Amino acid sequence: MMEEMGLPSYRGRQIFAAVQHRRLRSFEEMTDLPKDLRARLNERAQVATLTVESRYISEDGTRRYLMKTHDGLPVETVFIPEERRDTICFSSQSGCPLQCSFCLTAKLGLLRTLTAGEIVEQIHIALNDAYGEGGPTPRGTNLVAMGAGEPFLAFEPLMKALRIMADPAGLYIVPNRVTVSTAGIVPRIKELASVPDRPHLAISLAAPTDELRNELMPINKRWPLEELLGACKEFERSLKPGERFTFEYVMLDGVNDSEEQARQLANLLNRHDLRAKVNLIPHNPADPLPYRPSPPERVERFRQILESKGVHAFVRRPRGRDIYAACGQLAARRTTNMPALAQLR
Ligand code: SAH
Repeated sequence: MMEEMGLPSYRGRQIFAAVQHRRLRSFEEMTDLPKDLRARLNERAQVATLTVESRYISEDGTRRYLMKTHDGLPVETVFIPEERRDTICFSSQSGCPLQCSFCLTAKLGLLRTLTAGEIVEQIHIALNDAYGEGGPTPRGTNLVAMGAGEPFLAFEPLMKALRIMADPAGLYIVPNRVTVSTAGIVPRIKELASVPDRPHLAISLAAPTDELRNELMPINKRWPLEELLGACKEFERSLKPGERFTFEYVMLDGVNDSEEQARQLANLLNRHDLRAKVNLIPHNPADPLPYRPSPPERVERFRQILESKGVHAFVRRPRGRDIYAACGQLAARRTTNMPALAQLR
């Protein structure tokens, strides 16, 4: 763009660093640029397009940002402080076209796929809020594409966003710090395997049989379990030594959490001999979802059965449930589960 405008190319690098490293949100703030250049830039480009509508802070420190695109659609991002590092969970779409029966985002339907810029901006907004505009990120940042939307239906903008964020002159968050979660878009799982410097992969399973998975995740009718695990097998070849991929399994009381289903799940994964682990996610309830979370003892029992059959399994601690920030709760809610909590801005 700088060349098109008849300017030296170092200006391009300077502006890239201002946006992607210093995380400035307007040309006005780039006071190291000549004033007339800032004015010219303002006429033909925009640094930021998302606006933060509200921010909710959980009692566990998790923050949810409810933002709006330039065309008025909701975008949500979650900042999760952890002991050793922070995780930012970003959205790839506004709403989601998949109709998983246990997920609140599904109720929005698909509004639109986000652009690469809108994906990157979410990270800027969360980091600026946590550390001050352009402030250093002392604890390191992991990213998960586990917000609203199906990242593999936003494949191109997502990959572009990851390239931008990996730039050492910018955010410098490399794909090795990023996990992309899919409901099981089989062709994209195979495609990701051949991407150099790819992110880690997580796959949402939710059921050990096609019969149940068809009901919970209709995408399973398009790509059933055998095809999905076949694609995982192909993907496995791209794993680095020591690297695993992850299956996510939401635990729904009385639906998919029995001992028999734990055995079925272990057998399914063992039959495909996959270098994977299972994250058990207690269901995050929300009106009008027709499920309850499995009791903790049942989740633990489920985990033990998986482990006893050689499948590594972990129970994920829900974060930000009280502010509609936990897995499957992003639906542009303008309230919190706990009205007493401070609602900022
Ligand atoms: N569409 C992608 C990215 C979303 S990741 C995918 O499905 O993988 C969000 C994760 O939260 C998924 O693993 C999903 O199965 C899980 N999830 C959805 N609703 C949930 C809920 N109400 N409670 C707990 N986990 C949920």
